[in-house]
Amino acid sequence: MSLANNREDRDALPGGGAGESGAAARPLDFVRRIVADDIASGKWGGAVVTRFPPEPNGYLHIGHAKSICLNFGIAAEFGGRCHLRFDDTNPTKEEVEYVESIKEDVRWLGWDWGQHLYYASDYFEQLYEFAEQLIRAGKAYVCDLSADEVREMRGTLTEPGRESPYRNRSVEENLDLFRRMRAGEFEEGSRTLRAKIDMASPNLNLRDPVLYRIIKAPHHRTGDAWCIYPMYDYAHPVSDSLEGVTHSICTLEFEDHRPLYDWCLEQLGIHHSQQIEFARLNLTYTVMSKRKLLTLVREGRVSGWDDPRMPTLCGLRRRGYTPEAIRDFCSRIGVAKNDSVVDYAMLEHCLREDLNRRARRMMAVLRPLRVVITNYPEGQTEQLEAINNPEDPSAGTRQVPFGRVLYIEQDDFREVPPPKYYRLAPGREVRLRYAYFIKCEEVVKDAAGQVVELRCTYDPATRGGDAPDGRKVKATIHWVSAEHAVPAEVRLYDHLFTKPDPDDVPEGEDFHANLNPDSLEVLTGCMLEPALAQVRPGEPVQFERLGYFCADNRDWRPTAPVFNRTVTLRDTWAKIEKSLGK
Ligand code: ATP
Ligand code: MG
Repeated sequence: MSLANNREDRDALPGGGAGESGAAARPLDFVRRIVADDIASGKWGGAVVTRFPPEPNGYLHIGHAKSICLNFGIAAEFGGRCHLRFDDTNPTKEEVEYVESIKEDVRWLGWDWGQHLYYASDYFEQLYEFAEQLIRAGKAYVCDLSADEVREMRGTLTEPGRESPYRNRSVEENLDLFRRMRAGEFEEGSRTLRAKIDMASPNLNLRDPVLYRIIKAPHHRTGDAWCIYPMYDYAHPVSDSLEGVTHSICTLEFEDHRPLYDWCLEQLGIHHSQQIEFARLNLTYTVMSKRKLLTLVREGRVSGWDDPRMPTLCGLRRRGYTPEAIRDFCSRIGVAKNDSVVDYAMLEHCLREDLNRRARRMMAVLRPLRVVITNYPEGQTEQLEAINNPEDPSAGTRQVPFGRVLYIEQDDFREVPPPKYYRLAPGREVRLRYAYFIKCEEVVKDAAGQVVELRCTYDPATRGGDAPDGRKVKATIHWVSAEHAVPAEVRLYDHLFTKPDPDDVPEGEDFHANLNPDSLEVLTGCMLEPALAQVRPGEPVQFERLGYFCADNRDWRPTAPVFNRTVTLRDTWAKIEKSLGK
């Protein structure tokens, strides 16, 4: 069933409850205000038709998610529909691989275009006929200037452009040349079709913009049928119009193109969708341009489009982000008309809120230190009950094996504990989560003086609880039974860039200068409790005290588990909100 067509469906999304219904109570943003007013005034007969129009020249990223949630969200909330339209007008940069990934990502985010899957390339014939119509009306001409000459004659913001010497060709000559362009008679780049508008317009987009260019490259859908391809500024309004789009929502950089959008539809006298611009999403520590992301992939700075450090939806998915968290984020950032940069910590906050509700808690030791419980019977093991999710009693409990030899984190022991360090130290007692109190009796070191083992005693009377004599410990640490432990690789991630603004670089450098050399740390020989080996890729889990993790969907092997750290437990955004008194 299509989410976009039914409001109840959207509300029924799994896990979509708290965050999203909370958002519904907020005042309408300016785009929703326009839509609501149009419905009230009957402007489109009450219809609401939006579209998400990606160009299939890269993978979708978190910025696209904002646009997707806005377009599909509006359609869902106002009882309309949202189209997925591939804006595939440039055969040289586009690939089927991208088309498939985009569909997968939109679906994964929880949206459904139903039957409304379109391609601008489906309209090539219609676009061509409309172009002839413009020629016949004296509104378009074939121009023989090269791209450089067109640019050079275009003028500047302060100077008007100069008219092309081909501007006043007759309709007959234009039609003839345009048809021969289509037939493939001319070299790539030798001619264009241009709109005849105004070379002196203060808006550069109206200075006889190019509508068609010759590109002799096969198209991923139309093959060799065409060698002329429409420009975005022409294909887009016409595609919107043909689909009956009512609100054509796009990002701010198209504001200056709106007069051209309107011009095309007015000249053709066809259904006139309303273009509305909103500010694109920018995130700290993140580059969002497809060109830059492609560079990172091509240069091998990351392992691919789905590298867990990438802001792409497939990267975020592999990292362990949930669609619910991303939708919640998109609804919280709101929609405005002025550019701003959102703190990455806010995205992580939305993620933690969601994972906190749904992730099972398990124990894993990332940097193991061996502990031998000297008074625990050799060869004995027992099963201890552990709570899967204190936030969700329905998640139940599980059994965790305990034995004489354990692993704890190296970090949870200090030979000389600093002030306020309450974890294990010589002579000190701590609680093992769900197990017993243990006391460090002896420290074993190797020849180099490194601590390699602790010899401890346990108190059988403290099983799963407190000491009967009322004695207290100041710390509880996690652990894994050595005999039952599953060794694994765990990958820890940090931001790809060291600066909040990756483009903040010295003169002559680019974003490469801010790449974070420590954005990936791979730990091998980590020790997992057995239940973690059963986790499905895609299921979020919390490693107690360490953060949220997920099984890597690409490199995971049943015999060699690989986990990605999704996010740590420390919520800096919650602190910021608190300090603001929110
Ligand atoms: P380019 O056009 O440079 O290839 P793009 O990011 O604009 O890159 P499109 O495929 O054209 O890519 O984008 C599809 C839709 O997503 C457009 O409507 C665009 O405005 C919107 N979009 C792209 N980036 C963002 C962003 N950072 N925030 C919000 N919307 C975005
Ligand atoms: Mg674009």
